[in-house]
Amino acid sequence: MSCTTRRLLRSRPVKTSYFNNIVSLDAVTAAIRSEWCDYLPRTWSGVKHFHHSKHVSTPPTIENADGHLVGIKTWEPSPTPPLATLPMPMLLRSLLISTVCVKPYLLTPSLSILSFLAKPNRSFLFSIEKNPLLHWLVKRTLYDQFCIGENAAEATRNMKKMHDFGISGILLTYAKETTFDHKSKTAHTPGFDAQQSDAVKKKCEDIEAWRVGTLQTVRMTGDGDQVAIKMTGAGPVATEAFTAGSLPPKQMMDALDEICVAARQAKSRIVIDAESQHFQKGIARTYYAGRSRRLDYGVKLVRGAYMSTDERSKIHDTKEDTDEAYDSITRDLLHRNSDGFDGLKKWPRMSVLLATHNKNTVMKAHKLHQEIKEAGLHVVPLEFAQLHGMADSLSFTLLNAKGAGGETPKVLKCSTWGSLGECMAYLLRRAVENRQAVSRTQDEFKAVKAECSRRMRSAAGL
Ligand SMILES: Cc1cc2nc3c(=O)[nH]c(=O)nc-3n(C[C@H](O)[C@H](O)[C@H](O)COP(=O)(O)OP(=O)(O)OC[C@H]3O[C@@H](n4cnc5c(N)ncnc54)[C@H](O)[C@@H]3O)c2cc1C
Repeated sequence: MSCTTRRLLRSRPVKTSYFNNIVSLDAVTAAIRSEWCDYLPRTWSGVKHFHHSKHVSTPPTIENADGHLVGIKTWEPSPTPPLATLPMPMLLRSLLISTVCVKPYLLTPSLSILSFLAKPNRSFLFSIEKNPLLHWLVKRTLYDQFCIGENAAEATRNMKKMHDFGISGILLTYAKETTFDHKSKTAHTPGFDAQQSDAVKKKCEDIEAWRVGTLQTVRMTGDGDQVAIKMTGAGPVATEAFTAGSLPPKQMMDALDEICVAARQAKSRIVIDAESQHFQKGIARTYYAGRSRRLDYGVKLVRGAYMSTDERSKIHDTKEDTDEAYDSITRDLLHRNSDGFDGLKKWPRMSVLLATHNKNTVMKAHKLHQEIKEAGLHVVPLEFAQLHGMADSLSFTLLNAKGAGGETPKVLKCSTWGSLGECMAYLLRRAVENRQAVSRTQDEFKAVKAECSRRMRSAAGL
């Protein structure tokens, strides 16, 4: 296994900071032959920085009269409506969730309720783990929309369903994680018992629980799937080390070794999530401590998910800056333009995973990838990923499309498994993200509504 963790610095030196999680290159492994070797930690000078190229392409999307996406100009628009594959219950759940997301008077109270429920040690009445009615309600709506299963059996069943819909693979992650709120300077780890957070007492148990859960995740993956690892899920001992920018204890390094060997046996790829800015230095050091030179690089490129909790000064000032940074990095990666990586002498073998719901970004990247193929230049393997329950119309539009050579783009859905309690921080992030991405959420709402009307018209024989 090999991966790279590169933090994308702002183009203006005056505000250059070490990490920028808003456009971040998550650490990704690209190789099946993964192995976590005991390398000496690389120094931070080994991390390359990007310059942004000037080239800008035009988004080649085709939209209908309502303004939602129906095709891509580089491809023949597919006659199949993007959401036609979704079974009715899933479509209705998407309609419910997207309706709440686009109506501020529904979303604001829903968010407050969700953050209230996400807090640990709630009384029976407000405990989603203990109160069966509340559990059922949240499970059937939010959880089922964005997460894949509370246990391995349920998750495996749902993964199979997603494969049956034509999704190229699942990027599966185990829910345990710790987030750090920069404003309140507190770490939050749902699923860990606050009473027992004494580092010494819990040390082995937390890492062990994370090891078992992550190994289980690896075993659940199959052909085309990938495993996303959240290292902060290993609990306070690990996060204390990451906060200090150091390596976690040997117990965790050994667990990572075991996880990587298991992934190699399962022929799965591993993606190391970069997570909150607060932990990134330690996570990246841990990654570099375990990387092997025999393996290929992979890059998972994201706009960061932690805007509400990360340090604002380390984030681009405007959405446009973030978009331009993301798109210019994508162009550099696909063109193998090493000017964008200070000091990169030889371009490594690499594949790229664009993890985004931004249709302009996706379409521009796909168009560029096609052009590079048609020009007979070196083609960097490219995959796309969207989160489970989000931007389904974009995922299925991509899957329905054929490239110039009749090839279907590879599209993964990223999903999380774990108990409802463990998934609460993740669900809260999805809700906040949907509130921030107003126009994207509107697009999804329109696409889901259009599909519901199409089915009703078709049922009525119109
Ligand atoms: C498969 C997948 C895996 C992911 N994994 C991770 C992960 O491991 N770690 C992680 O951090 N994120 C991750 N993300 C990204 C995250 O969950 C959000 O999906 C992403 O931030 C939303 O951006 P977008 O690219 O979908 O597009 P958009 O909706 O176009 O962009 C929204 C993003 O733009 C940025 N932004 C918004 N407003 C501003 C502003 N005013 N100034 C500056 N920037 C702004 C924020 O990053 C915001 O989230 C992942 C996404 C996907 C699809």
